[in-house]
Amino acid sequence: MSSSSAPGGLGGRTALVTGAGSGIGHACARTLARAGAKVHVVDRDAETARNTAGEIDGWAHVVDLADAEACETLPNEIDVLVNNAGLQHVAALHEFPPERFTLLQQVMVTAPFLLIRRCLPHMYARGWGRIVNISSVHGVRASAFKSGYVTAKHGLEGLNKATAVEAAPYGVTSNCVNPGYVRTALVEGQIEEQASRHSIAPDEVVERVLLDRAAIKELIEPDEVAELAGWLCGPHASHITGACLSMDGGWSAS
Ligand code: NAD
Repeated sequence: MSSSSAPGGLGGRTALVTGAGSGIGHACARTLARAGAKVHVVDRDAETARNTAGEIDGWAHVVDLADAEACETLPNEIDVLVNNAGLQHVAALHEFPPERFTLLQQVMVTAPFLLIRRCLPHMYARGWGRIVNISSVHGVRASAFKSGYVTAKHGLEGLNKATAVEAAPYGVTSNCVNPGYVRTALVEGQIEEQASRHSIAPDEVVERVLLDRAAIKELIEPDEVAELAGWLCGPHASHITGACLSMDGGWSAS
């Protein structure tokens, strides 16, 4: 199918989504597939990667993105790259395990750099490419006890801007999507941990701890993030580049 004949505008395009086995990445893979793209599903979890790929008739790649050599085995003829895989570690700075800090940077900054670097030549040759980096409100704001994550997401913001500036002459855009708290496994883990730490109910953790700084007191759904990511790859977004698009219920407005 040619790109113009696909209903979602991504017919004939190939996408790669990292961390597509679950949560936001899973939703992004489905959205891009619905728009007509063939999708490479990358995750370190074999079962969920294969499930997602099966669901959307895509290709599964079981890769640990913390391993730079493994990143170099991934396909590079990619038109739409979604750097989504991520993880959290909550600890006071003076107790933060250095190896966890390094891991967060490897998965959320180095792997996106390596994949962007790998995919750009193909995008340049076609004169078109879309890079979407799933950042966070923590790409523009800090929270206590999340130094590894906040550092990584701020790093991703820099990489996004540098990519946007350099790739613009070739028809390639690069943008960040910056959600607040989204209802995924990553957040469910934090809710459970905080509930037991403070001896309060999970609902109270969501309202009083997680959504304290957001004006809209609701968790975001993964599909909402995926729709924004998909829209950035569509025909009305060709002049949006180097942006960080907040979807944080007003958190960063306050
Ligand atoms: P999730 O835990 O549901 O999914 C993350 C996926 O990434 C998992 O399938 C996991 O296996 C994969 N992954 C993690 N480390 C990997 C590695 N080393 N190699 C390969 N795959 C790996 O989390 P999510 O909430 O969907 O998070 C997705 C992205 O969205 C992350 O970058 C996260 O920082 C960001 N984000 C999430 C929220 C939120 O509230 N959930 C908010 C803002 C930003």
